[in-house]
Amino acid sequence: MFDSSVPNQRRKPTDWSDKQFETRAIRSGQDPDPTTGSVVIPINMASTYRHDAVGEFKGYEYGRTGNPTRTALEDLLASLEQSRWALCYASGTAAAQNIFWLLDPGDEVLLSDDIYSGTYRFLVGTLARYGIVTTLVDFGDLNATRAAIGPNTRLVWVETPTNPNIRIIDIAAIAEIAKQTNALLVVDNTFATPYLQQPLALGADLVMYSTTKYLGGHSDVVGGAITGNDLALGAFFQDQQNAAGAVPSPFDCWLTVRGLKTLAVRMDRHCENAQRVAEFLEGHPAVDQVFYPGLSRHPGHEIAKRQMRDYSGMVSFTVKDGFEKAKTIVERTKLFLLAESLGGVESLIEHPGQMTHISVEGTGVGVSQDLIRMSVGIENVADLIADLDRALA
Ligand SMILES: *Cc1c(COP(=O)(O)O)cnc(C)c1O
Repeated sequence: MFDSSVPNQRRKPTDWSDKQFETRAIRSGQDPDPTTGSVVIPINMASTYRHDAVGEFKGYEYGRTGNPTRTALEDLLASLEQSRWALCYASGTAAAQNIFWLLDPGDEVLLSDDIYSGTYRFLVGTLARYGIVTTLVDFGDLNATRAAIGPNTRLVWVETPTNPNIRIIDIAAIAEIAKQTNALLVVDNTFATPYLQQPLALGADLVMYSTTKYLGGHSDVVGGAITGNDLALGAFFQDQQNAAGAVPSPFDCWLTVRGLKTLAVRMDRHCENAQRVAEFLEGHPAVDQVFYPGLSRHPGHEIAKRQMRDYSGMVSFTVKDGFEKAKTIVERTKLFLLAESLGGVESLIEHPGQMTHISVEGTGVGVSQDLIRMSVGIENVADLIADLDRALA
């Protein structure tokens, strides 16, 4: 990916950039193994690599610094994002931390007021001690965003669709505002995936993922990634990936590559099922509000239509009878498993106020106790709707 200062003889992967997303997902970064012809990439478990002579090696020297299975995943992700580089980490949180290594004491991060709670927790709980200032902003309000951005703003951190309230943020409009200062726009694209939304093309500087979610797609691996086009930033993060050391295991990389092959077909079904589930909930008497950008009455519907291919599989809703009712519903579904996380083939349901977002209770990150969040899986949608109908009764 990058020119190294040492002779680096890593094989260049076949360039599939003229092919469509689905094709790139199957082939990019996954050239057949030259020694065996294996059509599936091998899992390379070596922690160290023999040098041909002092300072001469085949592109890999130590497993933290670089690993061929990780390279396959990174090449694949860059191909799917149509970006110049991608780097992978042991978790989405580790990927976010690598981005935070850009910050100096006194720097400010503008953070969405509806956000993955771990991102908020690390900034406010840990990085505040190092003089990093975090300010919560409603990025849906462009005037508020313009007013909030200042000379010390180094990062503008956006998630869209947001978590857990499923709001839509206009990436191109925020990029426009960030460009007027020195701030870098980071988009956490975990909910949308590169199949549904390409933030770099909309003006973002960096995209991050929890690959644990839709990219892995089977609830069996934890991982993260950063991707972008700026080569100096890429080189910086590659150094930090090695220096901080939160790298993914070769097996985790292999599982993530396997998951990514089917990303497009899985996302199509996630979107189709979520739309049907959202429409069902909209008509249900026990339900107060439904948050799904595919619904025409969703306030972000028009922006989502413009910047996304489809609306993803995350649906949130509030119930009329408050916390007790919400608690009963999430405990009564059978197909929708009561669990945190999202993006796997199986449907999950949870109560953000008491589960994923409990660490933001009492802060500016607004999470209602009436709110239920669902990750709609790829099961038969009639079965899913029947399960919800029974739980809501
Ligand atoms: C899960 C998640 C993260 C954190 O990723 P991990 O892999 O759990 O560390 C960050 N952002 C979003 C939107 C997430 O859903």
